Amino acid sequence: MERADHADQADHADDARTAGIVVAIDGPSGSGKSSAARGTARRLGLRYLDTGAMYRAMTWWMMRAGTPVDDADEVAARSGEPDLQVGTDPDLPTITVDGIDVSGPIRSREVTNAVSAVSAVPAVRHRLVALQRELIGDGGIVVEGRDIGTTVAPDATVKVYLTAHEQERARRRAAEGLGGAKVEVTLTQQELALRDKKDSTRTASPLNQAPDAVVLDTTALNLNQVIERICALADERAGMPGRR
Ligand code: C5P
Repeated sequence: MERADHADQADHADDARTAGIVVAIDGPSGSGKSSAARGTARRLGLRYLDTGAMYRAMTWWMMRAGTPVDDADEVAARSGEPDLQVGTDPDLPTITVDGIDVSGPIRSREVTNAVSAVSAVPAVRHRLVALQRELIGDGGIVVEGRDIGTTVAPDATVKVYLTAHEQERARRRAAEGLGGAKVEVTLTQQELALRDKKDSTRTASPLNQAPDAVVLDTTALNLNQVIERICALADERAGMPGRR
């Protein structure tokens, strides 16, 4: 599959039709978003943005600064302080906070279980959505998250909402995700369900399916099949007149 990925990447890397597009991929934890988004970016020769990593980095910084993550006022008051730098190369996505590489620590259980509280704070979302829009710029990027199609990039060329049955999502998290792109501690099915509940029920841009998103149930699909479907949608939309 690795070799096929590279061959496909070469096929598409100079494809001017897909050059300025924005592919928005939303969905709950363990739906296979990260591997699918990164794989799609590599295959289409696009940049890749993991917005979840930005919320995690903000959470890591709050915890390190001794800010109680459940104190929304305190989190809001300090949300402008950390300097977040994000690299969008799908072969080597990077994230630093105040110059520190946090790509490992942001996947810890502590951060994972605290991130929903921090991401529910409107001031945090305001700052990170602005940064995300800056990074998206003129497009040519695959962006994954919870509110990309609804809030961050409502004009995205392609919007995909990935789902998978709950048991399968927990299994994938335990097996380090669909394709194992991220090394994350194993959460229990209960922890996963709780995080999704918090992300779906918060007031500030909750996890939501955009009305014009294509829903893709990945329960019975392998990573390559998911990427193929997203690439087909991108090809279809990129050829349409009036696309972004
Ligand atoms: O995608 P990932 O599981 O790494 O996201 C971590 C957390 O970041 C989510 O549980 C959610 O609270 C938050 N998030 C968000 N909006 C996004 C992406 C992630 O609120 N666009």
